[in-house]
Amino acid sequence: MPQHDILVIGGGPGGYVAAIRAAQLGQNVACVEKERALGGTCLRIGCIPSKALLESSERYYEARHALAPHGIEVGNVKLDLAAMLARKDKVVETLTKGIDGLFKKNKVTRYLGTARLTAPGKAVAETKDGPVEITAKHIILATGSNPATLPGVELDGDRVGTSTEALSYDKVPKTLVVIGGGYIGMELGSVWNRLGSKVTVVEYLNRILPGTDSELASEALTIFQKQGIEFHLGKRVTGARAAKGGKTGGAKNGAVVEVEGMDPIHAERVLLAVGRMPYTEGLGLETVGIQLDKKGRIPVDDFFRTSAEGVYAIGDVIEGPMLAHKAEEEGIACVEQIVKDYSHVNYDAIPAVIFTEPEIAAVGRTEDELKEQNVPYRKGSFPFRANGRALSLGNSTGKVKVLANAETDRVLGVHILGPRAGDLIAEAAAAIQFGATSEDIARTCHAHPTLAEAFKEAAMSVTGKAISY
Ligand code: FAD
Repeated sequence: MPQHDILVIGGGPGGYVAAIRAAQLGQNVACVEKERALGGTCLRIGCIPSKALLESSERYYEARHALAPHGIEVGNVKLDLAAMLARKDKVVETLTKGIDGLFKKNKVTRYLGTARLTAPGKAVAETKDGPVEITAKHIILATGSNPATLPGVELDGDRVGTSTEALSYDKVPKTLVVIGGGYIGMELGSVWNRLGSKVTVVEYLNRILPGTDSELASEALTIFQKQGIEFHLGKRVTGARAAKGGKTGGAKNGAVVEVEGMDPIHAERVLLAVGRMPYTEGLGLETVGIQLDKKGRIPVDDFFRTSAEGVYAIGDVIEGPMLAHKAEEEGIACVEQIVKDYSHVNYDAIPAVIFTEPEIAAVGRTEDELKEQNVPYRKGSFPFRANGRALSLGNSTGKVKVLANAETDRVLGVHILGPRAGDLIAEAAAAIQFGATSEDIARTCHAHPTLAEAFKEAAMSVTGKAISY
């Protein structure tokens, strides 16, 4: 029976990072992953393929619509969707194979199979060659999440599907209904909108992008509407199913979406994007006495310990934002806690990025949260239209907003809607991590002309001292 110091179940960003860090710390580590490719949701069917398609579709859109102001004329721009999808698959393959390589380099034992706990310190991996019983002093559960479902929505993996199918439509749907205006719906809705679909988003709330600063979310809504996406907000979807025969939504055999208080919407394809659910199916939690919370998550303490001795959990399967980098931080912290007895994840400094055009990025608390929590704050903001680099790029939509404590000036939140917001937010995360004040940022010299100057100016504007606006 193979024996390891640490066994990680799940090879996503939480699991594979935990496994590699544990090996770096001299542990004998194994990781069981049920899919052939390592990397989890993020690399196989999440972050990476969606970003590859966002990049390609944006270039297609730009070539068609955005180069003329730069004095560049292009002829008849054609879409080769098969090539675009193949490029995406290649990016995924490169990265997932890279993790195989990292496992080998760090001597992490890989089991290809589905793992189940059988007793404290024991698990079995169902591999193609039969069950392998594994013992380990510590077991880390990193089994991630699956798309959430909605009553009445009949997923058929074709006309009515989730983000997984929407990453690989073999032709551009004439019409696409996206159920859910969260970040996954908006990112993938943007991809197909740019490639030519008529996209309609139906959202239960009266706003899109829940969790995002409401001022920026509302600006983003206007921008997406201008891009041609149609929205039905405050509307409850009661059902969706593939239509049998005939023409539906401009296509043969399309789908129908039923929405309370509205006529049914016909579409060629339907994308259900109403969030994700922790995934623990068949994991044998009952054998070690772990009970899930009301949201189906594995409860853990500050050191990722579950109620079972020697069993830990990290990533999407526990509480917190379902983000790859959050899972990675937890993977490292969990292992360091086990091996070195100290670790820390600063949940106040976890950035979040929505890779639409423009991008939306945030770290720390939103203005809505500060109001709710009665925290006294000052706000500074700076529009990209007053930033030289943004104007040179021809992309000057949006703004940077800095929220600082009114008494201590400590930065509490930064929210960016605009070009390359996803890259700009790293500086804000570092600022919050190091407990910076808005004055610290304002007094940090930023290169000119860069988009980052908008962050400095927003920080200066907290005390009314912005220079360029
Ligand atoms: P996962 O990545 O889900 O990995 C869990 C792994 O465990 C899976 O590989 C699964 O096969 C395996 N597994 C499960 N049960 C077992 C078992 N019993 N035995 C063996 N293996 C098992 N996050 C971002 O930060 N940025 C983004 O831009 C972003 N974009 C996204 C876009 C889409 C379309 C989607 C769907 C998600 C996106 N996410 C993004 C979220 C991100 O993918 C997740 O937060 C992240 O993958 C969670 O990591 P994890 O390791 O906890 O779980």
